[in-house]
Amino acid sequence: MRGSINLGKIFGIPLRLHYTWFIIFTLVTISLVLYFPGDYPIVERIAFGILASILFFACIIIHELAHSVLAIRNNIPVKEITLFVFGGVSHITKEATRPNTELLIAVVGPLVSLAMGGIFYGLSILLAQAQQTLIASLMQWLAIINVVLALFNLIPGFPLDGGRVFRAIVWRKTGNYFRATYIATNVGQGIAYAFMVGGLAIILVTHLWFNGLWLIFIGWFLHNAARASYQQVLLRDSLSGLTVRHVTDYGCPLAPPELSLRELAQSYILPTGRTSFPVAREATLEGMVTLRDIKKIPQNRWDTTTVRDIMTPANKLKIAYPNQDILSLLQQMEGTDHIPVVEEGKFIGIVDREDLNRFLRIRIALGTKLRF
Ligand SMILES: [Zn+2]
Repeated sequence: MRGSINLGKIFGIPLRLHYTWFIIFTLVTISLVLYFPGDYPIVERIAFGILASILFFACIIIHELAHSVLAIRNNIPVKEITLFVFGGVSHITKEATRPNTELLIAVVGPLVSLAMGGIFYGLSILLAQAQQTLIASLMQWLAIINVVLALFNLIPGFPLDGGRVFRAIVWRKTGNYFRATYIATNVGQGIAYAFMVGGLAIILVTHLWFNGLWLIFIGWFLHNAARASYQQVLLRDSLSGLTVRHVTDYGCPLAPPELSLRELAQSYILPTGRTSFPVAREATLEGMVTLRDIKKIPQNRWDTTTVRDIMTPANKLKIAYPNQDILSLLQQMEGTDHIPVVEEGKFIGIVDREDLNRFLRIRIALGTKLRF
């Protein structure tokens, strides 16, 4: 997630704090200070509010860790865990390949939250018996909030945990991942609308502006997340079976390494309108040269400077392979406009980002329908 602070790693998983987290941290802390019994000095209540808030977010991290650790155990890499304004999120890099795996990864988070709720409840009773009322009320709050967290996440609105459980069940019943996602994301959007309508009703009926707006925000966030998940699946579906070979431009001319920049401009760039050229001799890729590289060199040096002098050498380039699937190519192309395609050590063509985008747009526009 952009705009986030690195907090280090737990179990090898990077933990990050998005700047919007500070909003929720402040709100939770304030509500906690008000929650604690008023007969304690304010300084003590503030200190306990901050402590409780930190413990609350530690519980959210444990909830996310439960998802992440189970994902990793099932060979699904986890990029990072991020805390943000709506809680925590595990960035799991790919979807499970079997419904049972998905169900397990989804359900373990709420189960861990429920278990923590039970532990904190037990502690609160013990501490109350020992006359530690302030710590007891802190533990009681943590017990309640963990149970609320578990129940909220079990709402079957995709992409909440409950929605993932729901998708896994439909997936197992129908044997069709795409159909299951279609149904789950539709239900998820319905639930998101219900949140927004509920929030509006709260504002109109009870005038609790803050609670109502919060619910509307959650609904809006869930709606966007459900729609994005659906589009992701649509894209994946329309791309299944496609490889780099299908989007490679085989007609890209090769620039010899000793070519001068003037010749490159006059005989390659101007006649073709292309802005980047593989530098190669007899199909052995030596590097890539782009319009941007050339523009850095003053024109009076174009006759004496060769392509080799300014190219990005092959060992610093990202390389695609013909049998690679398109989804991994899309990830690889983040931040690059062109990527050379190499087969058995030989350069065979180039993938251009604009060509690729056009190809994807057409394919989606043609309506490669979901298979059901
Ligand atoms: Zn969860």
